[in-house]
Amino acid sequence: MTLPLLRPKRKNPVLRTPQMNLPPGARGRVALNMTAAAAEGRFELQVCEDCGTVQYPPREVCHKCVSPRLHWTPQDGAGQLLGSTTLHHSNDLFFRERLPWRLGLVHLDVGPTLMVHLHGEVGPAPARIRVGAHIDRAGQAVLIGFPSEGSAHMADDKMLREMTSDPKFRKVLVTDGKTETGQAIVRALVKAGADIVWVGHSEPWKKSGGLDDIGALPQVTLVPLDLTNGRSVTELAGEIGGKVDIVINNAEVHRSFGIGGRRGTDVAKAEMDINYFGFLRLAQEFGPALKGRSADGVTSATAWVNVLSIFALSNFPSHGTYSASKAAAYSLAQCLRAEMRPAGIRVINLFPGPIDDEWNQHMPPPKVAPSALANAIVKALRDGVEDVYPGDVAQEWLERWRENPKVLERELSAGGH
Ligand SMILES: [Zn+2]
Repeated sequence: MTLPLLRPKRKNPVLRTPQMNLPPGARGRVALNMTAAAAEGRFELQVCEDCGTVQYPPREVCHKCVSPRLHWTPQDGAGQLLGSTTLHHSNDLFFRERLPWRLGLVHLDVGPTLMVHLHGEVGPAPARIRVGAHIDRAGQAVLIGFPSEGSAHMADDKMLREMTSDPKFRKVLVTDGKTETGQAIVRALVKAGADIVWVGHSEPWKKSGGLDDIGALPQVTLVPLDLTNGRSVTELAGEIGGKVDIVINNAEVHRSFGIGGRRGTDVAKAEMDINYFGFLRLAQEFGPALKGRSADGVTSATAWVNVLSIFALSNFPSHGTYSASKAAAYSLAQCLRAEMRPAGIRVINLFPGPIDDEWNQHMPPPKVAPSALANAIVKALRDGVEDVYPGDVAQEWLERWRENPKVLERELSAGGH
């Protein structure tokens, strides 16, 4: 049984904030495929297409028949724990600060034997176990041994919390609480045990019923935030920047136009001003503070979440300028991820299909319900993944885009079907 995590004591402001020392991070090019799968929450190993042997560690050719035809394939991770050991000493700075640390040797049912980090609920060997791949603080795939059946507080395990970005007891900024999606995100965070949720709202003189309901929740503090205004972002960062553990940027402007449907660039500029420049302003002001607190104990600063769009991957002409602004934001998110990595802050990108909101009224179903998007965000934080594609449309587009981006472009120019 994992003991439930207790609410951490208030921090002594005189104490120094520890520096982040990342776990060992170098991996070969082949092994990065394991990281790519883990970034989406899957445990994949190479399987030989000629003799069927499952490979570990990752390699260029099959260790049995030397075939180069190795295919990355999802695994269920079922196996037997052969033995375990608890580290009480390590020369590595990351582990030294987190001792004791438990490791296990696992024989997977599909063949390979591998070393894993052990969840605290895994009993002594021999024991049935489930191996999963997670992204660690260095942004690399690591293997974790889970009990085949976990208890209610499994997520509070000390080792697992190092690998994930669980919102429980953390302080979160949601940049836009005026939309139905924003309000669903706030509710999901409160339900997940967030300590404080700061909820941004521009144009505070405009009354919004849903916002008042959110503001009445005891964990929620409404804060003025206008991402088009550099001073507004700077002021808020000055006020709460040193306390935020998770930033969720869901603010967006979305109009359904292509190029020919409207004269001038005002609408496209408004989209860029929030979806791209707003994100940039926010990252410049809140990024450095997040990086500075990434090693701050069980409630350290941990993640940055961008609500992008599946339209970021390939332009959807009837929402053409919006797609372009999201593509720009996606590119910037890749830059942010690279800059956050040395500090161990995870950047999570969501690429939802059309959300069931006023700007997608003319889109046929299936659409992503605001609550489903909110739950996907909380799940991504808990699972510690990097890329999420919520909804059937996003899943289908992703598959087609991976198969052949050019074919998808042609299909979308014909209306998406
Ligand atoms: Zn083979």
